[in-house]
Amino acid sequence: MQYLQGKPKDDNFLHKGLRKQLVQSLRQKGITDERVLAAIEAIPRHFFLDPAFERQAYEDRAFPITAGQTISQPYTVAYQTQLLEIKKYDKVLEIGTGSAYQACVLGELGITLHTIERQKALYDYVGQFFFLKKYLNIKRYYGDGFEGLPTYAPFDKILITCGAPFLPPKLLQQLKPGGIMVVPVGEDERQKMVKVTKDMDGRIYQQEMGDFSFVPMLTGKNN
Ligand code: SAH
Repeated sequence: MQYLQGKPKDDNFLHKGLRKQLVQSLRQKGITDERVLAAIEAIPRHFFLDPAFERQAYEDRAFPITAGQTISQPYTVAYQTQLLEIKKYDKVLEIGTGSAYQACVLGELGITLHTIERQKALYDYVGQFFFLKKYLNIKRYYGDGFEGLPTYAPFDKILITCGAPFLPPKLLQQLKPGGIMVVPVGEDERQKMVKVTKDMDGRIYQQEMGDFSFVPMLTGKNN
């Protein structure tokens, strides 16, 4: 884990070139939100992986990180972020900080982000990550995402980055009227991406998007 500490890693023309290609491939796969694409172009994804995987950092693939978890595929990050229809100054809740890559993509968009991770080892590991320190708008918590964060609720947007067995009721409650929640739903290896909207009267609407594959959303904290 040493590489997370000390001096920032190098972000050179090669990395920047690979990022441009990655953004190009995301455009071809249908990502149209320019702010999301600009965020992906700005963030050195190789900072989030072990140095041995520097080149793979810019392939459109998920990758193992620590504690048996994964950094989501760039396409998935872009797709979920695009579905959130982020507006400047939105207050956003993310469940599943993981590597914090998705958190930084959101952090680039001028919002306030509260992000929860249930694995203590991963929560501590990310705390050493120098790159994250530039995002004063990202607040991290160690806890169970099923509970949400009642103290800071309601949220304009909620993003779940692990496969939820059902729509977590407390998170639905913590979504503002007019808000959007994006959540992969399903108990198997594959989930359906669901865009949930809450209207001004508190009614919930669900729209099913494509199939995706996430690590499961688990209850309780893990030390
Ligand atoms: N957003 C991450 C994706 C990480 S994978 C990234 O960009 O890298 C999903 C993460 O969700 C894992 O780290 C897993 O530990 C976490 N997770 C699973 N269930 C959870 C829960 N109930 N509350 C909070 N985090 C949870």
